Amino acid sequence: MTQITPQPGIMDIALYQSGESHVEGVRDILKLSANENPFGPSPKAKEAIAAAIAEVHRYPNTDHAPLRAAIGEVHGLDPERIICGVGSDEILQFLCQAYAGPGDEVLYTEHGFAMYRILGLAAGATPVEAPERERVTDVDALLAACTERTKLVFIANPNNPTGTMIGGNELSRLADGLPEGAILVLDGAYAEFVDGYDGGVSLVDSRDNVFMTRTFSKLYGLGGLRVGWGYGPKQIIEVLSRIRQPFNLSEIQMSGAIAAVRDRDWANRCTRENARMRVWLSEQLAALGIPCDTSLANFVLARFADQSEAEAVDLHLKSQGVIVRRVAGYGLPQCLRITVGDEAGCQRVIDGIRTYQEGRK
Ligand SMILES: *Cc1c(COP(=O)(O)O)cnc(C)c1O
Repeated sequence: MTQITPQPGIMDIALYQSGESHVEGVRDILKLSANENPFGPSPKAKEAIAAAIAEVHRYPNTDHAPLRAAIGEVHGLDPERIICGVGSDEILQFLCQAYAGPGDEVLYTEHGFAMYRILGLAAGATPVEAPERERVTDVDALLAACTERTKLVFIANPNNPTGTMIGGNELSRLADGLPEGAILVLDGAYAEFVDGYDGGVSLVDSRDNVFMTRTFSKLYGLGGLRVGWGYGPKQIIEVLSRIRQPFNLSEIQMSGAIAAVRDRDWANRCTRENARMRVWLSEQLAALGIPCDTSLANFVLARFADQSEAEAVDLHLKSQGVIVRRVAGYGLPQCLRITVGDEAGCQRVIDGIRTYQEGRK
């Protein structure tokens, strides 16, 4: 019998475990495990999605021009240098497929987003991890980990699951210190939550080795719709456009995303509410003796005494219908990542942890 084997690297990928959404025997579930917007998408986005169904027998527009125009207008960017994908995960996949193969290295940080390793391996490349400094991206460690085989360096800023970020000077130093031919990918999945941060646009515009990715899944509340985008040098956009499937996005996806990005009131309200409740949640956790790093995203990373306490709190919250995210797979077994919910949701988290602590006395 012939041996049928997949490409090297593929069997090293562990099957992805997504945030849970059900608990046996518990109604009234509060899912705070996937960094979703507690208020959902803009009502205008929902209307646009519903309206787009009428034309679903037609193939979608292939060049995404109306969506790129809307993004360009809102963010002040050249639409010619924007590419859209099935979530920003697909843009990250294009980058790996186009620029990294067997013998090449893709570099990211110790507690970096799980997709970097998965997509690097899927492309046949070798994933390399650089240490962080107290759960913060360490530029010196990244530069030290670079070799002449480094092709892509992924930084989520703010990072998931730590919520921490580094400033513009550090990002520039990283971009300028990379080996010839390597691309710095700034994953801006949470950039909208940071007041005054452009997600790396200015760095992209002043370099030819920096690329930015963004998503509609987090602030815009459209994780289920699957739309993301990238912005970078024309040369890279032209490469990625060759491997993008012509009909990767449906009109339903594009119409929803256009309405979402244009509804600035909804986006601003969600950002403000997230900032307010994130402060509240962090302060309440601190008052219960549970520290968090300063998060700039829509979640906090709560640090417990050790792994067994983190797991016990997770189980207790689950029994109350509150689902948060274990992050042992990210090298943080003593932590739980908790999405910032609405006011009632945050209160439920705090009440749940308080009853856990009272039960231990
Ligand atoms: C959620 C997330 C993404 C992207 O998700 P998509 O839904 O594929 O756009 C990308 N990077 C990080 C760090 C994330 O947390």
